[in-house]
Amino acid sequence: MKRAVFLDRDNTLIKDDGYIHEPEKVKLLPTVGEGLKLLKSAGLLLIVVSNQSGIGRGYFSEKEFHAVNRKLNRILKSDFEIEIDDFFFCPHRPDEKCICRKPSPFLILKAAKKWKIDIKESFMIGDKEIDVNAGKNAGCKNSFSVKEKTLMKIAQEILKKT
Ligand SMILES: [Mg+2]
Ligand SMILES: [Zn+2]
Repeated sequence: MKRAVFLDRDNTLIKDDGYIHEPEKVKLLPTVGEGLKLLKSAGLLLIVVSNQSGIGRGYFSEKEFHAVNRKLNRILKSDFEIEIDDFFFCPHRPDEKCICRKPSPFLILKAAKKWKIDIKESFMIGDKEIDVNAGKNAGCKNSFSVKEKTLMKIAQEILKKT
């Protein structure tokens, strides 16, 4: 079984001033490239799990969401020679009461099934409580907030635990 780091995207990996959907605005947050490279070199899959209610609200399209993901991977590839392995997302508005919106563990469980990931040996990193709780609800070994420490610091902690 594989191990993974599940990652929130907006304001965890890239800067988001509100419903980011323009590829040209994609900018990595400090230490993200270095931190992800460290995790990847330790053999962990990098999997984004993202709430994208902007799609359900009609602010932008699913196509634009994917374009931002591609830009993120282009930057990671050119500057750090790594890539996010997969992207999972919830396109719904909170009031739709769907089953996939974080803090639901749905997206993590879906990713784990597809990639044959051992969730108990995997980790979640996000900037909001709902991210941390999604990791806990899924049964991840640890869930971290980038509000408390940089992604690089978190990556170093994860490496000590694996
Ligand atoms: Mg976020
Ligand atoms: Zn959903």
